[in-house]
Amino acid sequence: MAHESRIPLSRLDPNAPLVLDTRALSRQPGSSREQVLRVPAPEDFGIEMVGVPAGAAIELDLRFEAVLEGVLVTGTARVPLKGECARCLDPIASTFEADFQELFVYSDTRSGGHADDDELRLEDDLIDLEPVLRDAVVLALPLSPLCRDDCPGLCPECGVRLADAEPDHGHAVADPRWEALRGLAGGGPSSDGGAPGGTSSGG
Ligand SMILES: [Zn+2]
Ligand SMILES: [Zn+2]
Repeated sequence: MAHESRIPLSRLDPNAPLVLDTRALSRQPGSSREQVLRVPAPEDFGIEMVGVPAGAAIELDLRFEAVLEGVLVTGTARVPLKGECARCLDPIASTFEADFQELFVYSDTRSGGHADDDELRLEDDLIDLEPVLRDAVVLALPLSPLCRDDCPGLCPECGVRLADAEPDHGHAVADPRWEALRGLAGGGPSSDGGAPGGTSSGG
């Protein structure tokens, strides 16, 4: 089964906000440079419940370091987040900070057939930070974001937000099935103690 797995290198667009130029390092191992950037968030920068709104400002503190094989990029991204609380569905707006570090390898030093698909490469001294940023931010987002740590959520009976409801909010449901369960719980096996010999004097 002969299939072409080799994807031709796409030339990076030097004008894309997350395509950065490392030429100032002049490929000299040991030289480094710092950069503070504000870039608009790309599309689809999030997960189901929470994400960075497209176009919102991402603040980046970046450090580029030339090493033998390429350029090491270390950075922190501060992003605004919008989403909804996984418990009460209230809108959430917050900020999120993610650290990342990635090595971009000079593509021309690896021409000897050492093709590692996972490797990030420099293209004409340009790096594309978007996949790095996406991994750092999107993979770190909480799957169940909360409006606050102790959000009580919604009443399972009536759907009212329990944070707004009276402290003793509840519904006196007389469901026979629940009554039966309650009976079982009361008369079940002893819940505490349980001496190994089994001869503890019961009540
Ligand atoms: Zn909530
Ligand atoms: Zn209720």
